[in-house]
Amino acid sequence: MNNVTTIKSSLIADAISYLCQKAACFLREEIYNALQRFNCEEILLNAHLAYKTKRPICQDTGITVVFVDIGQDVHIEGDELELAINKGVEKGYEQGYLRKSIVDDPVYARKNTETNTPAVIHTRIVPGNTIKITVALKGAGSENMSAVKMLNPSDGVEGIINFVVETVENSASNSCPPVYIGIGVGGTMEQAAILAKRALLKTPLTESELEKQIYEKVKDIAFGVSIETQACHIAGLPVAINLNCHATRHAEMVLTENTVLPEEIKPDFDIPCNEHKIDYSSYKKINLPLKDEDIEGLKAGDGVLLSGEVCTARDAAHKKFIEQGIPFDIKGQVIYYTGPCPAMEDEIIGPAGPTTSSRMDSYTPQLLELGLKGMIGKGIRNQEVLNSIKQNKAVYFTAIGGAACLLTQKIKSAKIIAYHELGTEAVFKLQVEDFPVIVNFI
Ligand code: SF4
Repeated sequence: MNNVTTIKSSLIADAISYLCQKAACFLREEIYNALQRFNCEEILLNAHLAYKTKRPICQDTGITVVFVDIGQDVHIEGDELELAINKGVEKGYEQGYLRKSIVDDPVYARKNTETNTPAVIHTRIVPGNTIKITVALKGAGSENMSAVKMLNPSDGVEGIINFVVETVENSASNSCPPVYIGIGVGGTMEQAAILAKRALLKTPLTESELEKQIYEKVKDIAFGVSIETQACHIAGLPVAINLNCHATRHAEMVLTENTVLPEEIKPDFDIPCNEHKIDYSSYKKINLPLKDEDIEGLKAGDGVLLSGEVCTARDAAHKKFIEQGIPFDIKGQVIYYTGPCPAMEDEIIGPAGPTTSSRMDSYTPQLLELGLKGMIGKGIRNQEVLNSIKQNKAVYFTAIGGAACLLTQKIKSAKIIAYHELGTEAVFKLQVEDFPVIVNFI
């Protein structure tokens, strides 16, 4: 018992709080560098704006996944570890004005816990007398596109590659590309999934032969491929794929009994400003509300700068629209699918980028029939929605997923007009100015 170190649970909680805020706002250097290969100046500028303002890169500050490597010579004094971690998550999300996205009772009530807890916690006992904590904030857009498959040993390398390519292709723009592909191979069904998530913690270097082979097939959409493997049963080949959007947000720290936390969140590197590289000169300017002649002049792929009034609504608000009626005049309206972070005192609204549109597909045709003219979101829509957009002479725009800080600069006023109780899912009326979108379908 000589070398046993005591680490207070309050230090663990404070470290978690710090890491949540740091991960939300500052992209890691290796991720930023890997993203530079893509022609995504808005994403890089967004990372700079988040760094400069210390506000979240993306409004979906995720489910909090916490990896803890506990030295076997550590004694934790105070709260039990899980409680300490959840206290830290609650504090970090509150202090950092991060969006709380966790609902309890996933099947029925789906009530927001208002604390972003419980965290998902993975612990390991390791040699030593320190605690290493890694916090990963995982947004739903990319998490929802992840997959696990129990391959046969005979499927081999080809089976793994095909599964990855198929999963990445199916994820399309829902996962906010460019993506980082974490792959877990081996273990059991649940272990493969954890390996895949751990693979995303690695620097995206794409070093092994299999990583290189896969990367060659997906390099148009992925900025990295990392694989973690583990022994498995003679009769199995479990494979899990965990996709991460360009907002790959991790932060880590090693705690000792003497650790003193910084007073303010600090980035590990300075993220440069590339504002001069963003050019909207080819974009058409449209003043809202949308008129038929505005829509008739558009085609898929056009860049548009929207100015005027839009309303926000996402999953819970759409459900209420259908069940209880729409609390604003929907004729000619544009709905922006977003759930912002809470606003700080000096903000009009917290970071508010687009969310995945397909979750609204089951409600959309009804709203289009009632006069909805436009939608702003990200990702693909189902055929029924596309048919309804055509029939109703409406338009579906996409905005850059995960560019929340950049897009929020274009929001000039914001007021909640319905469903206060839904928090981030309340309906806001926004005034936007030159809000950049791309025509996806018309
Ligand atoms: S960048 Fe896209 S997938 Fe990632 S957290 Fe944000 S909205 Fe979700």
